Amino acid sequence: MVSTASFTTTKSEEIFATAQKLMPGGVSSPVRAFKSVGGQPIVFDRVKGAYIWDVDDNQYIDYVGTWGPAICGHAHPEVITALHEALEKGTSFGAPSLKENILAEMVIEAVPSIEMVRFVNSGTEACMSVLRLMRAFTGRDKIIKFEGCYHGHADMFLVKAGSGVATLGLPDSPGVPKTTTRDTLTAPYNDLEAVKALFMENPDQIAGVILEPVVGNSGFVTPDAGFLEGLRELTKEYGALLVFDEVMTGFRLAYGGAQEKFGVTPDLTTLGKVIGGGLPVGAYGGRKDIMAMVAPAGPMYQAGTLSGNPLAMTAGIKTLELLQKPGTYDYLNQITQKLSDGLIKVAQDAGHAVCGGHIGAMFGLFFTAGPVRSYDDAKQSDLTKFSNFHRGMLEEGIYLAPSQFEAGFTSLAHTDEDIAKTLEAASKVCSSL
Ligand SMILES: *Cc1c(COP(=O)(O)O)cnc(C)c1O
Repeated sequence: MVSTASFTTTKSEEIFATAQKLMPGGVSSPVRAFKSVGGQPIVFDRVKGAYIWDVDDNQYIDYVGTWGPAICGHAHPEVITALHEALEKGTSFGAPSLKENILAEMVIEAVPSIEMVRFVNSGTEACMSVLRLMRAFTGRDKIIKFEGCYHGHADMFLVKAGSGVATLGLPDSPGVPKTTTRDTLTAPYNDLEAVKALFMENPDQIAGVILEPVVGNSGFVTPDAGFLEGLRELTKEYGALLVFDEVMTGFRLAYGGAQEKFGVTPDLTTLGKVIGGGLPVGAYGGRKDIMAMVAPAGPMYQAGTLSGNPLAMTAGIKTLELLQKPGTYDYLNQITQKLSDGLIKVAQDAGHAVCGGHIGAMFGLFFTAGPVRSYDDAKQSDLTKFSNFHRGMLEEGIYLAPSQFEAGFTSLAHTDEDIAKTLEAASKVCSSL
């Protein structure tokens, strides 16, 4: 274990000790508690650009980016200015506003599958709603999801649900009735034959297939060549819908998400994270004939008091505007590649078996020789080594997601210098593991 003399977290520890008396596990969302890497979470004070500062005034280079939204860098001045202006007009309308049209147009323009969109307040809500829509449109109840893919915490998705659940060692969750997950069929990621078998065993019963087109919630796992295309063909053949959960990958792998990157167009798509620019947002959208089922245009009920919230729309619009500037994705790709290649190299140079990669502004590193094509492969990783690596990096001022089963994120604010510092730290930490 690396120890840096100047690294103290006294205030974080005090605040977190109190938090544990007030909130379950001391957090508002489980992975934040650092359970899988041991030790205690640091308590944040402020964020800016590629950096975060904790309450003890330690500065870190951040590769979590509030779990994805901060793709332009934290607290981007243009986003903050736009929010100040929006704030003066009020924080919530609960009525139509022009900003919803603007963000809707931007999303429809960007994402190949989306012809119409509904805004909600989180990725969980988007996935939960899209599931209802899949069932309403097809008149079928069963769905196929993949082991290690996370689609939010709605009951019917809490089966083999990846990082958060995996991290806590809960194979499933108490409180989810068996009757609710009875219709959730699972297959290993990248296993087309398993999907085909499920379709054959359940004729005319499967509403659709939902997946992370590039997985972030078992760590970073990419689709094999032909996997997404195969799912597109199978779902067509069996009269089922294909849904890409792009809550993480949307506007991150490419402006049009994984579907633009891989040239495979699903029927429906869920979004979140980046499109809220750091405020709570989710969205689902797709083919017009399917979206026409959604109330009040159609009979499938789904609603939200704060949906289309003007502050969230404002942050989303400004974030997408910043991403539209020429060269942004080239830049993101270039620095992320530098980081990803560098991490693999320094780890291997220190004698560790690792594998990993990146697409656009998303990357991953597993402490196993790999290749990692599925959640089962990801679970071969040396979790103790990862924990020590994580802790060592934290003490060197590098903030990584506190689980081997999470992807990493870069932003437009990360510089070559940040990457160099990160690799220097990784080299030092890896040699001490
Ligand atoms: C984060 C995430 C969700 C859930 O979004 P929340 O906003 O946390 O509810 C759903 N799907 C994927 C792929 C995600 O990464």
